[in-house]
Formats: sequence, structure tokens, C-alpha cells
Amino acid sequence: NTPLHELDPDVAAAVDAELHRQQSTLEMIASENFAPVAVLEAQGSVLTNKYAEGYPGRRYYGGCEHVDVTEQIAIDRLKALFGAEYANVQPHSGASANQAALFALAQPGDTILGLDLAHGGHLTHGMRLNFSGKQFNVVAYHVDAATGLVDMAELEKLAKEHRPKVIIAGWSAYPRQLDFAEFRRIADEVGAYLWVDMAHFAGLVAAGLHPNPVEYADVVTSTTHKTLGGPRGGIILAKKEFAKKLNSSVFPGFQGGPLEHVIAAKAVSFKVAASEEFKERQRRTVEGAKILAERLTAPDAREAGVNVLSGGTDVHLILVDLRHSELDGQQAEDRLHEVGITVNRNAVPDDPRPPMVTSGLRIGTPALATRGFEAEDFAEVADVIAEALKAPSPFGEADVEALKARVAALADKHPLYPGLNK
Ligand code: PLP
Repeated sequence: NTPLHELDPDVAAAVDAELHRQQSTLEMIASENFAPVAVLEAQGSVLTNKYAEGYPGRRYYGGCEHVDVTEQIAIDRLKALFGAEYANVQPHSGASANQAALFALAQPGDTILGLDLAHGGHLTHGMRLNFSGKQFNVVAYHVDAATGLVDMAELEKLAKEHRPKVIIAGWSAYPRQLDFAEFRRIADEVGAYLWVDMAHFAGLVAAGLHPNPVEYADVVTSTTHKTLGGPRGGIILAKKEFAKKLNSSVFPGFQGGPLEHVIAAKAVSFKVAASEEFKERQRRTVEGAKILAERLTAPDAREAGVNVLSGGTDVHLILVDLRHSELDGQQAEDRLHEVGITVNRNAVPDDPRPPMVTSGLRIGTPALATRGFEAEDFAEVADVIAEALKAPSPFGEADVEALKARVAALADKHPLYPGLNK
């Protein structure tokens, strides 16, 4: 029963340092969020000790009476949250959920049609080195160079030409809503399954701020840790007819024992996601992204070669276009890191710079909205970002110090996890 700080001071020190980093900097990686303390508590509970292969009421191990309760609560809450007929809460991650979903819908060698990785798609939607790209015949659709929007005419043309088994709608870096009804129409026309990966925007869907893909898709996958704000993990939703295939694809297809401590934490986060407070938080998330887009398309930003892909956003992130800036994605990411803002560089479609450098940034607002940021705070952080990206090179010490102080003031105004400090 020795506490972590005594048993393993090295690991404890790194955990404390990470808590301090999260508290003292501004987290704007679009795929990150801060899980509530109750979620951390469930995830750090004794449920981590339990083996529970199988599903509630049908386990291959004894002693599952309590984890049956938490897993069933998670399933019921998740179905209610998104209006789904079927839910599986066992996937260890978003990538695991996607693997299980894809293998339930298609066989190796079948054709799949997904958004190109360099245009905002995810690794699991057909990237060459991923299981999806190695085991399936991948055809990719793209965003239109002029508008930055998914080219639905190209999608339809490719679907008719290649007759894919599965069409994948979903993204990791795209600032607009997809037209699910149009995806459904095209899938029906060519006899394809429609799989939506809502990992990024699930929180917005839960809050009623984004169309619900469950109404259109055969299968919907998601992570639980992005806009949804829960523990790291994956989920699958579907029509009832896919239940058996999906259940056996997750277990025993790809996974062994489910992470019941994480599943309990998922259950807690689904309760939170059904609350009014959560809806209000998602509203501030989208509002904050719109404020960022407006600031980074203002004349002074444009003059410095900074712009925003598609001209704005409907979701929780913006994609900054630095093709005409003297800064590349790596330099811009480093500058913001210097002033205490964490973002990730991101390729823009047809990026002239190499993938490790890029000509863009992906900037998201979910974590700051969870911290309590309001419109005026987002306006301030947007201005700090604009000033940092506009400043001529070299980025002077005085500039850095002034912007750092503004970041620190915002972090102090919205304390994070105050009860967790030792
Ligand atoms: N799907 C999409 C659209 C994502 O953006 C991500 C993560 O970035 C995933 C799936 C994979 O999630 P995980 O990192 O939990 O495997």
C-alpha cells in the first residue's frame, strides 16, 4: 500500500510535472481535453484488476457481477446519448474501434473509400502503413483545393468507378461538417456500407450542435477522449443488425480482456455528456473556434501570410494555412510552445513542405472550453496567437516575455484541477 511518491519517486515526479504543464500552459491540441476528476477516479479504481472477457451477463470469468453493472450502465447511457440501437464500449482506443468496425464490414482485399490522410483523414482510413492500408484496397477522396471542402462530386465519381465495400466519412483535421445524407445517398447508390468515424466531433453531436451520424450510417465509431471529454478509449455504435458481427470482431476478434476501469470511466463521462453543463461547454468550444478563425483571417494576419483553410469553422478546430507565411508549421508550433500554447503542426492539402515540417497548424478549443474559457478569453488567446505568428523573425525575447505573461494570466484566471496539487 505504499503511495506512488514513496514507491516510485521518478515516475511520480514526471506525473507531477505533467500536471504542472497542463495547469500552467494553454492546451490547444484539437484532439485533447481534460477529463473530470470523477473520470480520473473511476479510471484509477480497483476495476483495473478485473478480468472480464465476454460481455455483461456472458463472461468467461467469475466475479464479474460488479463490472457487469458498470459496463451495462456505459452501454445504456451511450445508446441513449446518441440514439443508437447498439453500442460496444470495449475498444481500447479509437484505432482499435476502427479496426474492429472495418473487419466486421469488409474482408481483407475489399475496396474501401476514405478521406486522404494529407487532406484531413485518419491513419485508420487507409494510410499505407496502417492495417487499413496494408490489408484493404484503398481509394482516397480529397478536399477541393479552392474551397477546402470535401469534394462530393469526386467522392461520387470514385464510388461509382471503384464500387467500394465501405465508404468512410470522418476526419482528424477538417473544419466543417460533413453532409451525411449525401454520403448515405452515394453509399446506397453503389451498394456500400457507410461507416462514420466521429472521433473528433462526438461531443458536438452529443450536445446537439452537429448532425448526428447515427441517423445515417451503418456503423459509427468514436474515441471518448476528444470533444467527448472522457477517458482515453474507443466506442462503436450501430444498427442492431450489425450487433453480432461487431461484438465478435471486438472480442474475441481483436481484443482479450476489456479495460473495465476505463469502461467505468466512460460511463461517468457519458453521464456528464448528457448534462446541460456539457452542452454549454460545447457551445463555448465552437464559439471559441469561430473567434480564432475570425482573428486569424483579419487583415493584419493576412498581410503576414497567415490564413485559415475554408475561411472559418463550424466545429472545435481551425486549420491555419501558412503557405504564404515566412514561418513553416514546425516554426509556428515552436513559437507558440515558447509562449505557453500547445498546438500541432499539420499538413495543408497539397502541402509544398515535407510532412515533418508542414505549412499549417491545427488549433482546437475543447480543452480551454473545459477549463472555463468564455468568448473574451478566446479573443485574448486568439490575439496572442496572431501576434506570435505575425512577429518577424527572429522572435525577440521581449515579444516572447510579453506574450508569455498574457498566457500565464489566462491560465491563472481558469485554474485546472486545483484539488490535485500535492
Ligand atoms: N479516428 C479519428 C478520426 C481520429 O482523429 C483518431 C485520433 O486521432 C482516431 C480515430 C484514433 O484514436 P486513438 O488515438 O484513440 O487510437
